[in-house]
Amino acid sequence: MIVIKTIAEMRQLRKDAAGSVGFVPTMGFLHEGHISLVKRAKKENAVVVVSIFVNPAQFGPREDFKKYPRDIKRDLALLEPLTDIVFMPSTDEMYPKNYSSWVEVQDITEELEGAARPGHFRGVSTIVNKLFNIVEPTKAYFGQKDAQQVAVIKKMVRDLNMNLQVVACPTVREKDGLAMSSRNTYLTSEQRRAAPVLYKALMLAKELAAQGEKDAGVLRHEMTELIEKESLADIEYISVADNETLKEIHRMKLPALVSMAVKFGKTRLIDNIVLNR
Ligand code: AMP
Repeated sequence: MIVIKTIAEMRQLRKDAAGSVGFVPTMGFLHEGHISLVKRAKKENAVVVVSIFVNPAQFGPREDFKKYPRDIKRDLALLEPLTDIVFMPSTDEMYPKNYSSWVEVQDITEELEGAARPGHFRGVSTIVNKLFNIVEPTKAYFGQKDAQQVAVIKKMVRDLNMNLQVVACPTVREKDGLAMSSRNTYLTSEQRRAAPVLYKALMLAKELAAQGEKDAGVLRHEMTELIEKESLADIEYISVADNETLKEIHRMKLPALVSMAVKFGKTRLIDNIVLNR
């Protein structure tokens, strides 16, 4: 495994790479969710590149950029058996002085996370575009845990005619259903015990839909009631949306994206499932 920090080194290694390149962009503090993406990339490609970069452009001014968890030594140890190249540029390498170009995907960035975190997806699409230009992957791997992010990246790749395939991978969960996230580390033990209520609410929505509930508002209402029973949980949004446009639906129409953002103290967790036909 080679660990590099500059764009010039990454470009040189890309030139030398023989066969397909699988790429997994991350912000580090890796867990089994990230590793599942890396394993999939290894299975499907000759060369595996993982980037570790906490991207300041996708954090709002009052968000957790400064205290986002970091543990490079541990990350590298986890990646060692699965990865050929780790690209971990500095902030200055990616955003030098006078940096002024941004990528903006419209429409689907207006809902859900985009509405709750203004500018977030501009930061995401810009850094992912830059990383794609530097790594030139054959395939890039993203987690369904961040469903809207996958949709935004797929749209950007399609709209801007980027020459790669975007692969969405299933959400990896803890035994009690909590979706793995670097941010779970912020939770106190009490909050951690309460957090699986998100998954329980998603399962409730799935059950209601399977029973033939046709009113998406009923799903939103029942999920809200369940989560509100958990006193440590503070709902930011609960959504049942069209899986393509990400707009809220009234009558159930599948496939639908059921998603939510819920705060436990200062820690904001997101989760989702797709209800299919
Ligand atoms: P992050 O480091 O949070 O930016 O995540 C890097 C990639 O890992 C993104 O494509 C995420 O969607 C994906 N990811 C994060 N958590 C999970 C999870 N629990 N299961 C699957 N993929 C995940």
